[in-house]
Amino acid sequence: MIRWIDVLKFAKYSNPEPPRRLELPEAAWQEQLSPAQFQVLRQKATEPPYRNAYCRSYEPGVYTCAGCGTVLFDSATKYHAISGWPSFTQPAAKNVIRYAFDSSYHMERIEALCNVCGGHLGHVFPDGPEPSGLRYCLNSESLLRLSLG
Ligand SMILES: [Zn+2]
Repeated sequence: MIRWIDVLKFAKYSNPEPPRRLELPEAAWQEQLSPAQFQVLRQKATEPPYRNAYCRSYEPGVYTCAGCGTVLFDSATKYHAISGWPSFTQPAAKNVIRYAFDSSYHMERIEALCNVCGGHLGHVFPDGPEPSGLRYCLNSESLLRLSLG
C-alpha cells in the first residue's frame, strides 16, 4: 500500500519504473484527444468541480488513462470525498503513477501524472481515509472507465 511518506519519496527522489513508456509530440496528442482531455492531460488544466463525468459515479470497473489506456485506478478504491472530483485512495499498481512537486497557484501540492505517457491526472493529498490516508483527487477528463464483465 502506498502511503504519504512513499508519495513524498517518489516526488523528491525518484518515481517507480513505469510498465512502459509512451512519448508523443504535443501535436499528436492534440489530434488524438478531445479538446477537454488535451487541456487537462497535456496542459494541466483543472476541470470544474461536480460538473464532470465521474464525480458521483460509483459503478464497478477500472479507470484507464484517457491518453494511453493504462489501467490507473480501480472502482474498489473510489470514495466520496465531497471535493467535486473523482477521488481514490490507491492506484491500481504502484508503478502506474508518477509524482511531482507542484507549486503553481501559490499552493504546495503533489501532482499525480500517468507514469506511462506523462499526462496530468490531478493531485494527491494526505487527507484521505485510512488505512492509506491518501486522496487522489483527479480530473474526470484524464480518465476513461471500463466496465468489467
Ligand atoms: Zn497515460
